[in-house]
Amino acid sequence: MKRSKKILLSMLFILAIIITATTIIIPKDLDKKYNTVTLEPPYMVSQKAQQLYNSLDFIADMHCDALLWKRDLLKKNTQGSVDIPRMIAANVTLQAFTIVTKAPKNMNFDNNTGETDQITIPYILQRRPINSWFNLTGRALAQCKALHQFEKRSKGKFRVIESVSDLQQYLSDKENNHAITAGFLGIEGMHALSGKLENVDKLYDAGVRMMAPVHFFDNKLGGSAHGVSKDGLTDFGKQVIKKMQEKNMIIDIAHSSPKMLDNIFKISTKPVVSSHTGVQGTCKTVRNLSDKNLKKIAASGGLISIAMFKPATCDSTVASSAKAIKYCIDLIGADYVALGSDFDGAIEIHTDITGLPLYVEEMLKLGISEEDIRKVMGGNVKRFMLKNLPKE
Ligand SMILES: [Zn+2]
Repeated sequence: MKRSKKILLSMLFILAIIITATTIIIPKDLDKKYNTVTLEPPYMVSQKAQQLYNSLDFIADMHCDALLWKRDLLKKNTQGSVDIPRMIAANVTLQAFTIVTKAPKNMNFDNNTGETDQITIPYILQRRPINSWFNLTGRALAQCKALHQFEKRSKGKFRVIESVSDLQQYLSDKENNHAITAGFLGIEGMHALSGKLENVDKLYDAGVRMMAPVHFFDNKLGGSAHGVSKDGLTDFGKQVIKKMQEKNMIIDIAHSSPKMLDNIFKISTKPVVSSHTGVQGTCKTVRNLSDKNLKKIAASGGLISIAMFKPATCDSTVASSAKAIKYCIDLIGADYVALGSDFDGAIEIHTDITGLPLYVEEMLKLGISEEDIRKVMGGNVKRFMLKNLPKE
């Protein structure tokens, strides 16, 4: 009897170790393994660049996947690129938190199907809500809820912006208290709708204000630049775009196939953005925008948000992103250019969020004017959001 009790206790002990390892250590390790930086903080820039950075009244970034990972964003973390303390340290005004709900195995830029998914197992291991394990809408809603919970627990330090009036209130409060920051919710890939048009309302009600039709594989809305069909928008895709624009949700064309881009520009009645992109003019890959499409985004009154990692800029340097920014300014003017890092997007990023002053330094080196740097670092996002978010 005693011996069997001993065996039972040892088995329970081993089980406890396995559970701890799989639910705490492995998810943290995944975050650490996939989200790396080329340049480690702290970052040093010239006095001129730092002074200009310190004087910026609105600093914004249009893309970050931090919600995908099991990370307490209220703590300053050693892994990943974004959390609320680092946003405040970098004086960031607004960060897009873009939700990823499905990522195929062996992801590549040319030819992915949606048959496999790398997120399901980590989600179970991270002990996320059960309805987010196998249901993509549930998975998106869980990430929306997580951001709102960070807001609640932040004691006023972090806000989720959902409307023009939220943004105005926040900006007026920030004048008296610089140590506050904010984010808004986006989605990468509308397979998160689980094929149902009415889920646009559900996601809107959960706070989502920007959505990209596709991510790395084709879905019910149409073809991804990295999918198999390279198709345009389906009828369902057209219905979704129409419904989103009626609700003043922002269309993000990142990852769309060239055919889908043509279709979106044709039916869209509002400005469209690319939340994280490179440009073919400095880095010719399928994920990057052609001159023709850069001009179309500008003509719509939208935003081209330049990414900060090698596959988008063809180099692992801040200078390569600055070069893409300069290319856009020379082609379409400075009013439609922004930052769209892809922080925490399972990539090696040039720097973490506290490295944003380096972008000012590299833009100065390229001869970009202070006025244009202010626009790119956030001025354009401020103007765009005040015009295009839902009013209330
Ligand atoms: Zn992406």
